[in-house]
Amino acid sequence: MFMPKGALVIISAPSGTGKSTICRRLLRRHKDLCYSVSATTRAPRPAEKNGRHYHFLGEDEFKRRVRRHEFLEWALVHGNYYGTPRRFIESALAEGRWVLLPIDVQGAAAVRRRLPDAVLVFLLPPSWRVLKERLAGRREAPKTAAARLANARGELVSAKRFDYIVVNDDLKLAVEQIEAILTAEGLRTVRRDLTILKRLED
Ligand code: ADP
Ligand code: 5GP
Repeated sequence: MFMPKGALVIISAPSGTGKSTICRRLLRRHKDLCYSVSATTRAPRPAEKNGRHYHFLGEDEFKRRVRRHEFLEWALVHGNYYGTPRRFIESALAEGRWVLLPIDVQGAAAVRRRLPDAVLVFLLPPSWRVLKERLAGRREAPKTAAARLANARGELVSAKRFDYIVVNDDLKLAVEQIEAILTAEGLRTVRRDLTILKRLED
């Protein structure tokens, strides 16, 4: 796929909609994309690896990093702290790379305040029933799944402030739609190398 000067692409959605799944697919298909690994105080799920899915930190270490301004944003989500490491994103963007950031809805709004050029994509589940099934499929405690579902209803209100809305029903189609967004964003004049115009002047 054609990939000129990069941008930060935020993939946001109610928990359980499919952010991580979609990001994994995109990363597999496009080697020039990179992924911002968040920090969290939540316990790892069985298949999760430290440094790959999250940087798993104790609460004291997390708070120390907050005090040192090491996060672009941070939030308390479902009783655990989550934060977006600042340095990784800033240096990847400075190198002109494309960075994927899956993040909750409040975090997406906070990052956009800091980095207004970020591209915001809101993923929607096809229905509440499907979202419930996806949360149940992760085999979390029923209390956690119920809290995530209650939170999701409030988060949907924010969808209209995002640049794009993609429904994650058929995974392949959702991934293709996000690829279409990346292609279009890469073609924006601000991201083009304008020597292309110079060449045509001669
Ligand atoms: P999130 O990162 O938004 O919390 P996940 O990527 O962990 O969500 O997905 C939650 C569950 O839903 C996972 O079990 C995943 O395999 C499943 N899932 C994600 N997208 C789809 C889809 N399009 N169709 C069916 N199942 C999906
Ligand atoms: P989970 O525990 O299911 O991986 O994630 C719970 C929620 O925290 C999800 O909505 C996820 O997007 C969000 N989250 C993950 N990383 C970050 C982050 O760096 N900052 C914020 N604000 N939320 C995050």
